[in-house]
Amino acid sequence: MNYQLILDEIAHEVSCLSNKGKVADYIPALANVDPEQFGMSLTLFDGTQYSVGDSNTLFSIQSISKVFTFTLALKFYSTNLYKRIGREPSGDPFNSLVQLEYEHGIPRNPFINAGAINVTDALISYFGNSTKASEEIFQFIRDISDETSVNCSKIVATSEMDHGFRNMALANLMKSFNNLDNDVYDIIQTYFRHCAIEMNTKMLSRAMLYLANHGVDPINGMVHITEQQAKRINAVMLTCGHYDASGDFAFHVGLPGKSGVGGGIAVVVPQKMGICVWSPGLNAQGNSLLGTIALELFATKTGMSIF
Ligand code: GLU
Repeated sequence: MNYQLILDEIAHEVSCLSNKGKVADYIPALANVDPEQFGMSLTLFDGTQYSVGDSNTLFSIQSISKVFTFTLALKFYSTNLYKRIGREPSGDPFNSLVQLEYEHGIPRNPFINAGAINVTDALISYFGNSTKASEEIFQFIRDISDETSVNCSKIVATSEMDHGFRNMALANLMKSFNNLDNDVYDIIQTYFRHCAIEMNTKMLSRAMLYLANHGVDPINGMVHITEQQAKRINAVMLTCGHYDASGDFAFHVGLPGKSGVGGGIAVVVPQKMGICVWSPGLNAQGNSLLGTIALELFATKTGMSIF
């Protein structure tokens, strides 16, 4: 298959669309990102990469980081993790408080904000303190992307901290139900630090490979998680990876993936490749508008879908 041609076609087709979506301005540091940008990359199991557009531009990975923290928590806690977090789609916006209240502080899944904050808390407990937890999260992401330069934007992390009232509320609510172990401020700061990690589509498409290959990095052979854990993470990405548009994404694209409000979407094609697309303008559900369309075009043109 001529992947470069397919990516070039997709980039051309989305560039003709007049509506590019709206950047996430509830995080002030992200409000000024140019919505015209578009980049897409795919990485095959032998390391070959194909890219188009702004594939070297670093962007805020935001909720895509939740896939990586969930991976670590599942690795260390195994199924005990599900005593504190569910694995059902929420059907509610990613930062909703209502469901958390009537479900007694147990978040529906690890990909809504409450769930990811809870996962961060579990990792702080596992590693003993928030500094060590942050270091381990960053190191894991450097390992899977094979990119030692991966780091977070202090500007974005601080901006989130200054405006993260709703995430603070989610954390305090869980704490009131005894479903968080550590200091709320510490947890939220660690959570924002991993959301503020910056990567490009090349790095992220590479980072998804272990999930496309049963938990093992197909390039260097590193075993990150078990085959069963990789299967579970892919299942949760498919059912919960795109906020309350997860059903729609499964319907139109049919591949496990995770989006973030920075405009990135990282996707797994089982046994074949990792993909990442980025365009900062979002649709009404908070997913990259052009990114979602690009992935639908990719699935249609290549016939790649798990269904
Ligand atoms: N850091 C963002 C928040 O907590 C993540 C949101 C997202 O990408 O879904 O609001």
